[in-house]
Amino acid sequence: MSSNKHLDFIENDLNELKEKGLYKNIKTIESPQGAWVNIKGKKVLNFCSNNYLGMANHPRVTDAAKNAIKDYGVGPGAVRTIAGDMDIHQKLEKKLAEFKGVEAALSVQSGFKANLSAIPSLVGKGDTIISDALNHASIIDGSRLSRAEIKVYSHNDVNELEEILKQNPPGKKLIITDGVFSMDGDIAPLPEIVELAEKYGAMTLVDDAHGEGVLGDSGKGIVDHFGLHGRVDVEVGTFSKALGVMGGCIAGSKQIVEYIKQKARPFTFSSALTVPDTAATLEAINILSESDELVLKLWDNAEYFKQGVRDLGLDTGGSETPITPVMIGDAKDATTFSERLFKEDVFAQAIGFPLVPQGQARIRAMISAAHSKEDLDFALDKFAKVGKEMNLI
Ligand SMILES: *Cc1c(COP(=O)(O)O)cnc(C)c1O
Repeated sequence: MSSNKHLDFIENDLNELKEKGLYKNIKTIESPQGAWVNIKGKKVLNFCSNNYLGMANHPRVTDAAKNAIKDYGVGPGAVRTIAGDMDIHQKLEKKLAEFKGVEAALSVQSGFKANLSAIPSLVGKGDTIISDALNHASIIDGSRLSRAEIKVYSHNDVNELEEILKQNPPGKKLIITDGVFSMDGDIAPLPEIVELAEKYGAMTLVDDAHGEGVLGDSGKGIVDHFGLHGRVDVEVGTFSKALGVMGGCIAGSKQIVEYIKQKARPFTFSSALTVPDTAATLEAINILSESDELVLKLWDNAEYFKQGVRDLGLDTGGSETPITPVMIGDAKDATTFSERLFKEDVFAQAIGFPLVPQGQARIRAMISAAHSKEDLDFALDKFAKVGKEMNLI
């Protein structure tokens, strides 16, 4: 026990987390992100990163960051409302808007901050947020910060969403959904959601963190995937997944983006994205705008791996994207499976309760364009070996 009695709760709570199996042990990566990473001096095949297109260590992206540091230094100085915009922030935002096919975009420090910026700007006390049950933590926190009333509908259940809208909840109404759900890899029924929003006069916000660089023409995202340009009010995004860097964005009409810029506290009271992040993200979008080669490779890899997993007799759940859950069932089995894979040089995370329902624990394999077919064959061999050892196949 600590000698500071008033801090005893910390040790107690940490022990409780460990007893419940919720304590996070975080691995140390000793190399750039890529198909393979070094952990404790060992090279392992990486299925744990959202680096869908291999941008995190793409030579053009890293060069852009280095060159920008030569021209602009590292830090933005202060919040933009005081220190001013740097022209590279404006360049990035213009390029982002062009890429996504919207009038305007605003960059913020992360995808998490993008939700904390957008949601409380649009709704407040007396208004209503209508939210998918499996929405990301940053949507939940942004919603709570807004002080609007939060009504939750069952995952992807548009009938339940309509029931809530029919009751005409108070104030402004904002429907929020993830575009791609990160634990199952399924896609939100955005066309139906948009139709309901139009019918009942609600605003829509889609968080496309796992859709950008993945869905739509050249990875333009879920709005492009469904051809819903101009019909979704706000798109939230991250630069940390397919774009391989760090940062977040809010995209939509000029007016709505300007409104959020004027009102969002994380924009007004927290400094801008750093210079290297800004320049690297801009270059990642340039690469995507020039060619869809990486996006096509990502999908080809994803189909190849999923089919391989199914051929082994394992279940990939309801995934429609490169996020590949390999369903195991019992949480302890999933953990054992992951540890066994790691011994075989495959780094793939076990995901269990509370991230997914009890009994639906899984290995989540994040497929990337950085993987080669040989990498995926290597992994499939190891999934087969461990699956047989554990009598799962
Ligand atoms: C990853 C993720 C975020 C957070 O993005 P960061 O840029 O890492 O803060 C937000 N929303 C969703 C849906 C995500 O998957």
